Amino acid sequence: MNKYLLSSISFFTLALRKKMLCNRLLLLFVFLSAPQFVAAASAIKINNNIYMAQGSSNISSNTFMVITNQGAVIIDTSSPAAAPQHYEMLKAISSVPVRYIIITHGHGDHTGGIELWKESGTHVIAQNNLIELLDYQTRLNGFFAVRNAKQAGKPIPVVSNPNPGNYAGQNPADILFDKKYQFTLGELTFQLFSTPGETPDHLSVWIPELQAAFVGDNFYNSFPNIYSLRGTKPRWALDYVQSLNKVLSWKPRLMLPSHGMPVSGNATITQKLTQYQNAILYVHDAVVAGMNTGADVFTLMNSIQLPPELYVGEAYGRVSWSIRGIYEGYAGWFDANPSSMYSEPPQVALSELVSLANGVDNIIQRAQEILLSSGNAVLALHLADAVLAADANNTDAWTLRRDALVKLKDLSTNGIEKNWLQSGIDEATAKLNSP
Ligand SMILES: [Zn+2]
Repeated sequence: MNKYLLSSISFFTLALRKKMLCNRLLLLFVFLSAPQFVAAASAIKINNNIYMAQGSSNISSNTFMVITNQGAVIIDTSSPAAAPQHYEMLKAISSVPVRYIIITHGHGDHTGGIELWKESGTHVIAQNNLIELLDYQTRLNGFFAVRNAKQAGKPIPVVSNPNPGNYAGQNPADILFDKKYQFTLGELTFQLFSTPGETPDHLSVWIPELQAAFVGDNFYNSFPNIYSLRGTKPRWALDYVQSLNKVLSWKPRLMLPSHGMPVSGNATITQKLTQYQNAILYVHDAVVAGMNTGADVFTLMNSIQLPPELYVGEAYGRVSWSIRGIYEGYAGWFDANPSSMYSEPPQVALSELVSLANGVDNIIQRAQEILLSSGNAVLALHLADAVLAADANNTDAWTLRRDALVKLKDLSTNGIEKNWLQSGIDEATAKLNSP
């Protein structure tokens, strides 16, 4: 099956899944672009100016090429792994000089192809906060190398320079701006606005002549990662809401997210963005209301749910993680329990409790019963951890832990959750296989 057919089928599958078959204009993109599609391997023609090389889920961003009569503008460059293929696809569409590269934010799945696309005289544009974001990511190089690999389901790398220093980020941009930056190239105007959300340096691009809004990672076909499990500074929910308001105010007729497919038609875009920001605001306000009445974070994680009309899916971010992210973003780590002021964690009591339970066998047996009968794999997982706190080499506990993680993975519909569960399964398997 050739690449065109494969890409067309995946596009139709996506469209069906998202109930977007009625969106005739998007389908038209595919059919009208068929000749260019073949020529470009699998780049997608969006309109006469905009072409897209599609990224892979949340692993690599889309790369957009906006062609004017004075040269091209690249918006996001995808990951280092995907960038060469995106470059090849889009260069096959047009080899006009690349005048500008715009980076919607400094995550590695967007910056990986900057050097590839840069030509003599190409300007790279980003928002001011890119500098600190890159310093932060580089400052914690050893930490993020492991956490990013686990979250992406990749092998743990050997990190040659885990601690490069506080200000070792490499800034690729020669044009930085605070609130707004505007330039004209050929027949098109590019208006760049600071729109913090996914990151503090996040920007969105508005091309008024095309009524097109490039929204980066501030819109996904899923609830956002207001907290990312790999570790992140707080991503402020109210920033997302205000940034999406800015995009809505442009009344776009074409919305181009950096992950997933474009959306066309102002009514559809308005409905999607409004639903998205209302979902974020609903969760934020419920957390704040809970905090103000003294609720603890776990109570809120268990009790706050999106109403059906605001449910936007959880294939990427999960609402419960964001609830904790919002709570701890505002409050920090202290839970107001004096026990938590000290460096001894609650786990120090577990080995005592295990020894009082007439041996680990009782606990293991009870946890296996729970896993089999009620299916409460999280409770079984905690009991396995309790035994391991008392006996770190207990084979039965490692087996129980692996079985509980496998069960949770089987139940999960979230890619990030699955990858973290798999990293735990791999750890338990390695432990069980070690002599
Ligand atoms: Zn991204």
